[in-house]
Amino acid sequence: MSPAVWKDRIFKTAPTVALIVGAAMAVDYVVNILLLKAPEVYTPFTTLLVSLVVATPLAYWMTRQRLRLERLRDDLSASLDARQKAIEEADRRRAEAEKAESLYRLLGDNLTDHVALWSPTGERVYSSPSIQRITGYTLEEFMALPPQAMVSKAAFDSVQKLIGGLTPGGPPATADYECTRKDGSSIWLESAYSLLGDGSGILLVTSRDITERKRLELDIAKALELAETASAAKSDFLANMTHELRTPLTAIIGFAEVLRRSRGLNQTAARQVGHILDASNTLLSVVNDVLDFSRLEAGGLELDPAPFDPAAMASSCAALVEERAVAKGLVIKVKTGRGLKPMNLDGPRLSQVLLNFLSNAVKFTAHGEITVALSQKVEDGAAILRGAVTDTGIGIAPEHLDNIFDRFSQADAAVSRRFGGTGLGLAISRRIVERMDGQIGVDSVEGQGSTFWFEVRGPLAELAAPEADAAPPLDGEAGVRLLLVEDNAVNRELVKAMLEPFGVEVETANDGVAGVEAMRQGQFDLVLMDVQMPVMDGLTATREIRAMEGARGAATPIVAMTANVLPEQIATCLAAGMDDHLGKPINPTKLLEAVARWSGRTHTKP
Ligand code: ADP
Repeated sequence: MSPAVWKDRIFKTAPTVALIVGAAMAVDYVVNILLLKAPEVYTPFTTLLVSLVVATPLAYWMTRQRLRLERLRDDLSASLDARQKAIEEADRRRAEAEKAESLYRLLGDNLTDHVALWSPTGERVYSSPSIQRITGYTLEEFMALPPQAMVSKAAFDSVQKLIGGLTPGGPPATADYECTRKDGSSIWLESAYSLLGDGSGILLVTSRDITERKRLELDIAKALELAETASAAKSDFLANMTHELRTPLTAIIGFAEVLRRSRGLNQTAARQVGHILDASNTLLSVVNDVLDFSRLEAGGLELDPAPFDPAAMASSCAALVEERAVAKGLVIKVKTGRGLKPMNLDGPRLSQVLLNFLSNAVKFTAHGEITVALSQKVEDGAAILRGAVTDTGIGIAPEHLDNIFDRFSQADAAVSRRFGGTGLGLAISRRIVERMDGQIGVDSVEGQGSTFWFEVRGPLAELAAPEADAAPPLDGEAGVRLLLVEDNAVNRELVKAMLEPFGVEVETANDGVAGVEAMRQGQFDLVLMDVQMPVMDGLTATREIRAMEGARGAATPIVAMTANVLPEQIATCLAAGMDDHLGKPINPTKLLEAVARWSGRTHTKP
């Protein structure tokens, strides 16, 4: 024990010792002096000594006991305080829990969505009463149902798989599935599944009725399917129609061209043949516009960027309309500025836009001039190309300017009656330019003229050097032996009429089988192959010819000659083993060029 403790003990024991000693001394005095009156036996010193000896340990023991008791009392009161606090804390918590529970119950009872808790062993622990509104089962009935009662096996299995992938406290997984209600009707539920993160392994599932949403989705999907089917049917119809229209046009344009070139016509007949040619070419451009527009509407315009020369584009487009312009007494000026750089853009599509502007300018201008102007703004390896066609024609009234680029839009009925047209040209042009992320527009003053313009952006490019070994044009001495595989007798006659004056010997076959047989028997410099034919089509015939040649080693160029002119149809021809493609109606110049180009060569593709 430390001296301080000793001091404390002595301090606390001393009063007791003094009390006992005092008492003993008082008893000694009272008994011996006052009562017995025997002072001789009154021995205060001995009493003091004896009482001191007896009282000190007794007092010390009593003090210790008292201190122990005091400590015990303190401990007891501390533990009573602690207990009281614990009871108060427990009461507070119970009150809070009761409040929370009543809130949760209120929530659970009034939820429109369904909330459920599942034990790790797959028993239902809790289900909110909203289950009755959703499924028609009372809460008690529902709690007794097996988990898979209302869903198909496939839906149940896929949800089980989803649950198997959950992690405690992790993100929820969701699933849509169809359920059968108590009355047999069907509903769609969307459920979110999550494992509680408290280690209890309890699965929380919240479900909501999405029948209405699902019905809308299904309706939309059905409508979309119907629209897609209708659109596919429309595209098929248009493809068939244009094919069917092209076939007779091939004969009309082709023979008109043959007649025009022949020298035996008198002046009147030559003029009339010219009219046939003009009219049939107009009809062909309408057919082309309709096909083009339907493809653009269906989003099927694939751009094919390649290096092209804008200045050459302007001159060749101007040349194409020059004859018509001169016939009306109009002057065409081409202003391309100096140093226009080649660009990497879909040149043919851009030419289509410029040509459409030019054709309209010639069509809607009675006198004056038409100017084609091209300019370029070059920055960082790219350029903005602006093309504009200005005329001094009838102009466009301000109220028509806004929708002039819409499909089937013509300025007014009187104009369309006077000039004809489909109202598709500018709509096609707008789609082409927008597909190139460019801009298109018009400035016009009624009665004074119009400027139609476009602006497109594209990278600068290097033009490839022109082919050195360009084929010389055919002459009467060509001596080319050609096999024409074509089921249409008129077309066979037409091709012969176009080629024979140039010294081309044309042998014909009426279908693919006859074509393959002719190739087996004879030697040809070139094959012109129709695609759609009875008995055997041109693609199959080409494959058979290529297989046959594979064994023999020699390979004759085959050029498709078909009214199938869509890019994917051209690609199919090349994939079948053909070398080139000529569209119908047959353009005599292009036909002669193709014969000159291919008759001196061999097929080189694998
Ligand atoms: P189409 O010329 O076949 O009718 P377009 O789409 O090319 O179809 O042109 C739509 C309409 O825009 C024309 O019918 C005409 O009213 C008007 N238009 C186009 N170009 C000109 C122009 N250069 N001058 C006056 N009007 C024009």
